[in-house]
Amino acid sequence: MIAKVILNNRQHNIDQCFDYEIPAQMEVSVGCRVEVLFGRGNFFARGIVVEITKSSYFKNLKEIRKVLDKEPFVSESILNLCLWVKEKYFCSFYQALRLFLPPGLESGAREKTARYANLKISEDEALSLAEDMLSKRAKVQGQMLKALCEIHPIKVTELYTLSGGNASTLSSLAKKGLVEIFSERVYREAYNKNKYKPSENYVPTPEQKKVIDHLKNNISASKTETILLRGVTGSGKTEVFLQAIDHCIKQGKTAIMLVPEISLTPQTVNRFVSRFGESVAVIHSRLSQGERFDEWNKIKNGEVSVVVGARSAIFAPFENIGIIILDEEHETSYKSDTTPKYHAKDIAEKRAKESGATVLLASATPSLHSFYKAQNGEYTLFEMTHRYNEMELPEVKIVDMRGELFNHKNFSPLSLTLQREIAKNLENKTKTILFLNRRGYSTFTSCRECGYVLECTDCSVSMTYHKHKNTMVCHYCGKEMPVPEICPECGSRHIKFFGTGTQKIEETLLDKFPTARVLRMDTDTTSHKGGHEEILSAFGRGEADILVGTQMVTKGLDFPDVTLVGVLAADTSLCMDDFRASEKSFSLLTQVCGRAGRGEIKGRAIIQTYQPQNSTVVFAKDHDYLSFYESEIASRKRLNYPPFCDIISIMASGENEENTAKFMEKINLLVKDYMKTNDFISSVIGPSSAPLSKIKNQYRYRMLLKADSEKIHPLLKSLSEIKEDAKKVFLSIDINPTNML
Ligand code: ADP
Ligand code: ZN
Ligand code: ZN
Repeated sequence: MIAKVILNNRQHNIDQCFDYEIPAQMEVSVGCRVEVLFGRGNFFARGIVVEITKSSYFKNLKEIRKVLDKEPFVSESILNLCLWVKEKYFCSFYQALRLFLPPGLESGAREKTARYANLKISEDEALSLAEDMLSKRAKVQGQMLKALCEIHPIKVTELYTLSGGNASTLSSLAKKGLVEIFSERVYREAYNKNKYKPSENYVPTPEQKKVIDHLKNNISASKTETILLRGVTGSGKTEVFLQAIDHCIKQGKTAIMLVPEISLTPQTVNRFVSRFGESVAVIHSRLSQGERFDEWNKIKNGEVSVVVGARSAIFAPFENIGIIILDEEHETSYKSDTTPKYHAKDIAEKRAKESGATVLLASATPSLHSFYKAQNGEYTLFEMTHRYNEMELPEVKIVDMRGELFNHKNFSPLSLTLQREIAKNLENKTKTILFLNRRGYSTFTSCRECGYVLECTDCSVSMTYHKHKNTMVCHYCGKEMPVPEICPECGSRHIKFFGTGTQKIEETLLDKFPTARVLRMDTDTTSHKGGHEEILSAFGRGEADILVGTQMVTKGLDFPDVTLVGVLAADTSLCMDDFRASEKSFSLLTQVCGRAGRGEIKGRAIIQTYQPQNSTVVFAKDHDYLSFYESEIASRKRLNYPPFCDIISIMASGENEENTAKFMEKINLLVKDYMKTNDFISSVIGPSSAPLSKIKNQYRYRMLLKADSEKIHPLLKSLSEIKEDAKKVFLSIDINPTNML
């Protein structure tokens, strides 16, 4: 028998099946991992069996050396999905397969064990020996032995840190019979089970019941359907998810619950774990590789029926899926911007079709794309227009920041109105959330004499000042530079920081309201594990009056005693150079204002802006999604933007600018050639240098096509196969990229 094997290799040039003979006594099935020898050099390689056949076209096949799995490591249905992903997103089979596997698998992230060291002799003996060594030349060994006297057993990594020694020091001590080294399994938990209290289904409101009943019927009947649920913030969408999933479990089916990474807070996880207990696996990026591996195994072994996770959880190795839910379906984070550049929604619909599942897309502000499909009958629309407790949506006020400067001579980032409202809240002991669409102390540094802006030398972006480190940081590559004292361009000393960041707001607040307790939540304060949780639970426990933060404060937070929300600069997101700028702003403003007044007291929201007449701001103020949709969809149609076409970015990137530009020109000619025989492509922009012309020392040239991506798939496929590896230029194709830079 012959096995067709795909090797674990990212390279395109060996992206195909290779035939191997299965030795007579060997048992192997499709989906098992195997070890083989590859190529003329007989390189050791690993791969996965994708097909077993009787014969091969080739002679003198090599044999499979070893089978790594008794049971298939991935199912046949997942192998088929990989083929589909490879075809749709122009990647190699292995790149597709990796999506379905836990990270770090190749590096062997199996069970987590830690190595410990312990004394084999008594503490007294060890201590005197250590003194002896310290006085002679074996100083480090002495220090290590001394450290062991203080703590034993001890993790070897900790021992190295404490003693300044390393693995060879330790092994010398072991050889002398003074210490022993052993391994012990360390258990990893993605969430703390003991902290969660069980919860029961609520009695659904009439609006909730309509959706829940529909979903339950679909799940029982294994009906494939995509449902769009537009429910205002606080209408109880999560309760709908919970009851649908509950039904799934009762039917013996599985459920995938996707939440944007940023909303995957312990608060969110808690709502699922408290309802479903140990039937839930949780996957998010703050987990270590090992933790993810453990969660993945629970899913694969059928120990859980529900996975709650960010984008990548769409690849959970479940069979018999009943429902796939995407909460906040409008979020751009559901689209991957690294190869394979998939959209979780597409994968969800594909998987749903395969297993007879329902897809539920939910949002207070659905993406234009999804709402358009619902209007066209492609999706089934449900709406929940009331908050579950009939609490009114917050009253939103727009503050014209131009007036602040000219009429009130107020140079603070907080308008007088907002200051007044904050003061009121402090007095009433109710909480406030302030939202700023930026991070860091100020966004960029510029020379007041010549206008020079400090840019990263490897990327064509301005660097950001970080106050606590007092350095300039590039947000693309992480490069740090000292803050310039004189302008590198003209030598002037008038270098100035522009813009306002969360730290600056925090300082302003403390200045204006010295007794207020302020918490700041941004990438700086939440970068360590659990940082997010600490801040949120402190705010939840009432340890602060005001929470200031970036995007993170806009999502999924449900604190009943927040009665005031302030948006400090609605303009920063409105000016973005992207056709989706209005859509993004509308949903952001709606989401953030929705954080106010979720409890007994009606909420207020204040939007500060320099563009008070901007229609997006006004629609958001009135909570008027439908009018916003009508106006925006008309403009998309007029300008021929998605959903009326796809935007396809074809980007070449390489170290050498000339080679990169030349390669792009070659692609351009092929596209122009293609256009001679059909009219599928309605317009072409470029090729030209991308707005971010260089990232991490890679030049970027790009062209944008407006077309139906499915119609021009053969063209895109053939372009994706052109190789310029020798010149180190790489091509990437991105359909409807989330980032237009
Ligand atoms: P959304 O996700 O639509 O913003 P949530 O699901 O967070 O809304 O619901 C808001 C609040 O209402 C939550 O505290 C939730 O527990 C509560 N809630 C939702 N539905 C019900 C219900 N049927 N009965 C009682 N409380 C409910
Ligand atoms: Zn200058
Ligand atoms: Zn950089």
